[in-house]
Amino acid sequence: MEGVDVVYELYNFLREEREKHQKEPGTVWVTDLVSCSLKSKYTSLYPDLVASDVFNPPTIVGTLIHRGLEELLKNIFETKQFKVEIEPETSMELELPSGKVVLKGRADIVLTSPQGARIGVEIKSMRGDMPTPLEHHVDQVKFYNYMFGLEKTLLVYVSPDRVTQYEVIEKASQEEIVKRLLEPVSPRYPWECKYCPFSVLCPNKSIK
Ligand code: SF4
Repeated sequence: MEGVDVVYELYNFLREEREKHQKEPGTVWVTDLVSCSLKSKYTSLYPDLVASDVFNPPTIVGTLIHRGLEELLKNIFETKQFKVEIEPETSMELELPSGKVVLKGRADIVLTSPQGARIGVEIKSMRGDMPTPLEHHVDQVKFYNYMFGLEKTLLVYVSPDRVTQYEVIEKASQEEIVKRLLEPVSPRYPWECKYCPFSVLCPNKSIK
């Protein structure tokens, strides 16, 4: 049909989403605290290495799972009189010896029950089954529990083999956040380099 090109529209949507979420100077995202500290610097230095990844089918499948589940849960919980926030953002300012830093976080979903309890939902898609929950995902939601003032977060995994959830009640502390900002680690997890777009030039690449 003339004038309709789904792949082109999807590509443009993904490109615009990536541009919308560019990092401003002096800003750190929670996702930076749960990944290799060098990635943030390399993203600024070598943006094309990341940009070439914009139309990566497994990432697109992950985006579609996120969008679909977010919409579905919104419909379900609104009928139960919950307030449903999709991809809400929050931020906090931190004074470090090197100056002021703004830490930002974007949760997948925050539900507020009719009684006022705030519960996060974090969606993770996987290509296949693996031991869960993963350490960096648990760390991420501990930061969200603290920053969004959540009672708990449900960490939901979706793969072709399993759909499961874990309740994370623990909260990170401001001290933990500052420690992560002040103590760079690269890589932060042993598996990271295998999936990193900067592994082609990084001196810290783990070869094990
Ligand atoms: S290759 Fe490894 S150490 Fe280097 S930036 Fe990527 S994750 Fe970090």
